[in-house]
Amino acid sequence: MTVDVLIAGAGPNGLMLACELSLGGVRPIVLERLPDDTKENRANGLVGQVVRVLDRRGLYERLSGGAEPPRPSPAFVFGALPLELSRLDDNPMYGLAVPQRRVEQVLEERARELGVEILRGHELTGLAQDEDGVTVEIAGPEGPYTLRTRFLVGADGGHSRVRKLCGIGFPGVTRDGSVSIGAHVTVPVELVDAATGGLNVPGYGLIPPFMHHRTDHGLFVYAPFPTGTLVNTTEWNRDGGGDRPPTLDELRESVRRVLGADLPFGPPEGDGPHLLRRLSGGNTRLAERFRDRRVLLAGDAAHVHSAIGGPGLNLGLQDVVNLGWKLAAEIRGWAPPGLLDTYETERRPAAERVVMHTQAQSALIAPGPEVTALRVLFTELLRDERTIKHIADMMSGADIRYDLGGDHPLAGRPAPDLTLETETGPVRLAELTRAARPLLLNLTPDAALDGALDGWRDRVDLVTGKADRDAPAVLLVRPDCYVAWASDSPRLGEKERDALRAALTAAFGAPSGTSSGAGGREG
Ligand SMILES: Cc1cc2nc3c(=O)[nH]c(=O)nc-3n(C[C@H](O)[C@H](O)[C@H](O)COP(=O)(O)OP(=O)(O)OC[C@H]3O[C@@H](n4cnc5c(N)ncnc54)[C@H](O)[C@@H]3O)c2cc1C
Repeated sequence: MTVDVLIAGAGPNGLMLACELSLGGVRPIVLERLPDDTKENRANGLVGQVVRVLDRRGLYERLSGGAEPPRPSPAFVFGALPLELSRLDDNPMYGLAVPQRRVEQVLEERARELGVEILRGHELTGLAQDEDGVTVEIAGPEGPYTLRTRFLVGADGGHSRVRKLCGIGFPGVTRDGSVSIGAHVTVPVELVDAATGGLNVPGYGLIPPFMHHRTDHGLFVYAPFPTGTLVNTTEWNRDGGGDRPPTLDELRESVRRVLGADLPFGPPEGDGPHLLRRLSGGNTRLAERFRDRRVLLAGDAAHVHSAIGGPGLNLGLQDVVNLGWKLAAEIRGWAPPGLLDTYETERRPAAERVVMHTQAQSALIAPGPEVTALRVLFTELLRDERTIKHIADMMSGADIRYDLGGDHPLAGRPAPDLTLETETGPVRLAELTRAARPLLLNLTPDAALDGALDGWRDRVDLVTGKADRDAPAVLLVRPDCYVAWASDSPRLGEKERDALRAALTAAFGAPSGTSSGAGGREG
């Protein structure tokens, strides 16, 4: 048996990719070496444009537990400096406080609904590729076996076996100087400031919640999540303590060194699971390439960096939303030449920016008077709205523009959050994109689009409606919700029709009915 796509790793990125491929008409198999989903929780939240992406797949509601669409966050931090996002007219920073474990549960549930097979306790141990596919060696619960696949995606985390087996280098730096200790604890209620939700540390003062708080001796975080109150410290140039789990006393001593004051706290209450974690050092690395013939890398397998500001899932989940429809198109036979390679050309710059801004933030939180001086300067710069916007765009990933040609300002950018007045009533664009189909939006009732989609109707859906706010007259939206082409002209002339056809061909292949047209093996 040859499967279309094997995904190594049922972390958030492997599971999201499985969902995207299924929506694209390809049913992958996911291999996960762990027998159950008991691994430690990492992320405490999703930050950036990824929140909008999840909304556009109907997953935001499941994660937030409410029916309301996402709203931008009024505040965030950059390198432990406050970002007053509420001052921005066009705030791109979205956030959702949800533990990674829950994200994985929801994605697994969705993948199973879509018919994905997830094989737990199956570890990829080897691979060999030829022109037609990849033969994958697997250690399963009943012993070793092989599977043949047309494509393999390594979503197997920072230590990716797939990446190593392909001989893809992972250059970058390892920083050994920092040690973080984090734990769920119980703090006395009288220390919690009713007005701000911050923590009044006796002998130190008020520390705001959910913010990195830097002193000359280290970093302190107080984060009262619904799943547990987290206290975390980071110090530099100390003996890391290796992989030994920390004790709460070690955390107390670390808090004393960082804040110069004692924080009385006790062990966490409730059933847990409770966090008690030590992280020594950190890696910032980017894979030399994201593709080796029929093998692709996604998520942490392709890039690792500091977790400061929580950029990991914003990057990784958007990687796989970019990759999913392209790989599905390749397998179904309608991908234009080179489409799959645009996964790397589009997503590598996004990864490079995350590497850059996490390193910049790491520099800004380090101890020492020079860093304190740098922070004074940054604080001054962050009084300017343009600087806040620049940083917010960078951290959220909203400054990424794919090179899709065309001169419209929206081309290559995420589609705006529109609500369309259609024949059947108002509908948010985020609801129209849940099936991950390419869309041609005709937003001017009299736009003459007759026949514009002939040859692509099997791949692209036409939606007609009036936008609730200023919007182009016509928008061509890819399955990953990026704008492939746009026009402000309600009546497309010959030149614009040619440009639309060129954009359709570039993104979704030649029109069917032509010798190189689509149809694919599955139609
Ligand atoms: C302390 C910490 C805090 C973080 N906080 C945040 C945050 O707040 N927000 C955020 O967005 N990001 C955060 N991150 C980053 C985020 O956790 C990662 O980016 C994310 O886990 C990457 O997902 P992934 O699916 O690529 O890899 P992983 O989550 O590492 O999943 C890979 C999976 O592959 C499996 N696997 C490995 N090898 C094999 C094999 N050979 N065969 C089969 N299966 C295999 C593993 O068991 C695992 O389940 C944090 C990271 C850390 C360490």
